[in-house]
Amino acid sequence: MKIQEYVSLANFTTWKVGGPAEWFAEPTTIHEIKYLINWAKSQQINCQIIGAGSNLLINDAILPGLTICLKKFQGSAINSNTGIVEANSGEPLPTLSRRVAKAGLHGLEWAVGIPGTVGGAAFMNAGAQGNCTSDILQSIQAISLKGGDEFRLSQKELNYSYRKSRLQKEEFLVLSVRFKLEAGHDKHSLNKVTTQNLQQRLNSQPYDLPSCGSVFRNPKDNKAGKLIESLGLKGFRIGGAEISKVHANFIVNSNDATANDISQLILVIQEKVKQSYGILLLPEVKKLGF
Ligand code: FAD
Repeated sequence: MKIQEYVSLANFTTWKVGGPAEWFAEPTTIHEIKYLINWAKSQQINCQIIGAGSNLLINDAILPGLTICLKKFQGSAINSNTGIVEANSGEPLPTLSRRVAKAGLHGLEWAVGIPGTVGGAAFMNAGAQGNCTSDILQSIQAISLKGGDEFRLSQKELNYSYRKSRLQKEEFLVLSVRFKLEAGHDKHSLNKVTTQNLQQRLNSQPYDLPSCGSVFRNPKDNKAGKLIESLGLKGFRIGGAEISKVHANFIVNSNDATANDISQLILVIQEKVKQSYGILLLPEVKKLGF
């Protein structure tokens, strides 16, 4: 594993924006992850984590410190009798969704269209179609970015709610996630539902352009996309960032957008929705380097 200097993070986010990381590494083992955390400590620099970068707005400027990308830390162990699945944090959610369906395990069919990693899903409590990660997550194995040994936290200890978790307040790196799924289901029906779920999303969301999925959290008893669409904002743009014509809660990078274009567009949407409805839309997307 190399620790590289000044690596463009635009290639590591689904929005395709972001400046260079001062230091950057892609570990493939726990041993390498521990080495990186200790290395950052010895250099007295900050450490930040990215998964698949599918929920991240990274600033255009240099991102100081070490950025650890976990996308290559993949792998999962699936027990088709007990329904227990242990996945490394870099395992892609769509891959895991397909694999467990093939093993006759029910409970992850909704995750097939979410282009994040297992660690990112545990951090964000990712969800779709009325399901979310915390429904099926039993525990995680983590390590502190300040150093020390691995430890396990149960679902209860992670204080999950809508797109929120205790992990968002701590400096922990999720190493792996243990899921409990329902065993003994028909593989063909699970595969069919999983494929249908993906198709539904491809039909209703702009998968053809770089995005970060839904930009804003849905306010209580409302939909962020509906509020934005009702103001005629679909297609509105700042620089290369555009409110998707397909789904108003998506901002797409339609033409070499910068993080600044996207940031400005987020502010304009917040202002317009606040003025018209008195509702402050809160971003679901996480920011790095701002
Ligand atoms: P990243 O974007 O890389 O990181 C997000 C945050 O998690 C960062 O703060 C990062 O530091 C932290 N993090 C990541 N991995 C770890 C780790 N191992 N340990 C500690 N912290 C970590 N989301 C939904 O909930 N539902 C959807 O239906 C949905 N649809 C989407 C559709 C599209 C087309 C796209 C582009 C995105 C969509 N998303 C959706 C958003 C995104 O995929 C999820 O939030 C996903 O869980 C983020 O995972 P990631 O690995 O990309 O995390």
